[in-house]
Order: sequence, then structure tokens, then C-alpha cells
Amino acid sequence: MNVKIDKDLCTACGLCADTCPEVFEMGEDVAVVKVNPVPVEYEEKVKEAASNCPTEAIKIE
Ligand code: SF4
Repeated sequence: MNVKIDKDLCTACGLCADTCPEVFEMGEDVAVVKVNPVPVEYEEKVKEAASNCPTEAIKIE
């Protein structure tokens, strides 16, 4: 699983980094992905973060 963040949609709310800090962290202006492909053990948390993102900025590929 690969994940990316649409910089145009992210509002830097921080929810994804709270949900799965192993994969997401807050950058200067938007959240950034620390590791791709996502380790299998974090896939469920990444899916949860994606479905909870208020702007649907997290894209799972
Ligand atoms: S949850 Fe969505 S809007 Fe919030 S920081 Fe993460 S990617 Fe950005």
C-alpha cells in the first residue's frame, strides 16, 4: 500500500499524525508521509486516518 497527501487539500489539522504517527508527521505547511510503502502493520491505521481526514486529502494507492 502506498499513501500520499494532496497538499492542496490538507489543512494541517494534525489528525492523521495523531492517528498514525508511525506514518504521518506534520511538515512545514501540511502533513507528510514518512514511509512508503506503508508497513503492513500500519495499514489499518492509515486507512482509519484516510477515512477520518476532514478534507479527504489522504490518498491510498
Ligand atoms: S488529517 Fe487530512 S487535513 Fe488533517 S493533517 Fe492529515 S492530511 Fe491534512
